[in-house]
Amino acid sequence: MNSASTHAYDHARTTPRALATEAVHAGRDDLARQGLHAPPIDLSTTYPSYDSRGEAARIDAFAGDGAQPEGPPIYGRLGNPTVARFETALARLEGTESAVAFASGMAALSAVLLARASIGLRHVVAVRPLYGCSDHLLTAGLLGTEVTWVDPAGVADALRPDTGLVMVESPANPTLAEIDLRALAHACGSVPLLADNTFATPVLQRPVEQGARLVLHSATKYLGGHGDVMAGVVACDEEFAGRLRQVRFATGGVLHPLAGYLLLRGLSTLPVRVRAASATAAELVRRLAADPRVARVHYPSIGGAMIAFEVHGDPHEVIAAVRLITPAVSLGSVDTLIQHPASISHRIVEESDRRGAGVSDRLLRMSVGLEDTDDLWSDLDYALGELATGLPREWSKEEGAAFSTGRA
Ligand SMILES: *Cc1c(COP(=O)(O)O)cnc(C)c1O
Repeated sequence: MNSASTHAYDHARTTPRALATEAVHAGRDDLARQGLHAPPIDLSTTYPSYDSRGEAARIDAFAGDGAQPEGPPIYGRLGNPTVARFETALARLEGTESAVAFASGMAALSAVLLARASIGLRHVVAVRPLYGCSDHLLTAGLLGTEVTWVDPAGVADALRPDTGLVMVESPANPTLAEIDLRALAHACGSVPLLADNTFATPVLQRPVEQGARLVLHSATKYLGGHGDVMAGVVACDEEFAGRLRQVRFATGGVLHPLAGYLLLRGLSTLPVRVRAASATAAELVRRLAADPRVARVHYPSIGGAMIAFEVHGDPHEVIAAVRLITPAVSLGSVDTLIQHPASISHRIVEESDRRGAGVSDRLLRMSVGLEDTDDLWSDLDYALGELATGLPREWSKEEGAAFSTGRA
């Protein structure tokens, strides 16, 4: 970064701006001074330097604390200017000093686990449910970590001298169960709390304000927002970010610059997308909760665009019957997606663990997009209608619809 852009960056940092403003300006503060409007995409993998003594000093400094080297970039695995714009912007939105981007959400989580395991802190305390692959990564111990699964109330008692991380999702994938992050952060003491904020996004929840030290995103979801970019990011203090950059440099799970560009673009509409989709989701929740074909609806107290519901009949029939809604895993895109967690997103979790975490075989998870509410409802109504075929409607009505927001 040249001195002019550094100045603009510093000025912006000292002037607090609202989330909606940060979403469209953060990571772009130097553009006008450079005579640019859209951010440039830097696809270079390497950068020329005639000063190899200087490069040696910069690489030594990086090896020390993992701070992003000052001056021109060195090599793509050490950092990329386009990706750095996204990191700067996400850090501003989450209210952290730094953010470190990775090739996927799982690469980001892997880097956190490796950063802790590399200093001997191999034990993780975690609360179910987590995203299926996060659960699997911890349960299988693929990175040499060991996990203890507990309820939120059991976290303090589960901590050991070698505990390097406490990990939670709130609202959780796929049940939308919520955790009191502030109380949990207190229970963690000096052990870093990682909150996966993929579902809430910084628009609805900033976990660092509640005491979490690390905020994880599958940026593949709402941050990208259009179903066309795979990425992960960890927002945290600069000290932890340094460790994560060192792990990223050594293990190579870097984000492609084009993905960095798409994510920065995605962030600019994040508040608008999340609020619009959340309003639609809240209305669909009202209609589902009043529908006799639906046994139970899960929706977080903080709102959001994710809905989970259990049907009286066969959930596979709902998946097979949607026409406007896309039957697909993943979430957070402009279009509405529905999937059956027990078959797809959480299939890799052992059946008893999955059920124990509240992921019933009748549960459907829906990511509400930006379509018209009535159009979405008529598609859902049609898909649910297939279910009711042959069922006496009175029977379903007697069952009633339970509405749940808590961690059952
Ligand atoms: C999708 C997801 C992940 C994994 O992210 P990828 O980008 O698919 O690697 C992690 N956490 C949550 C909550 C997710 O939904």
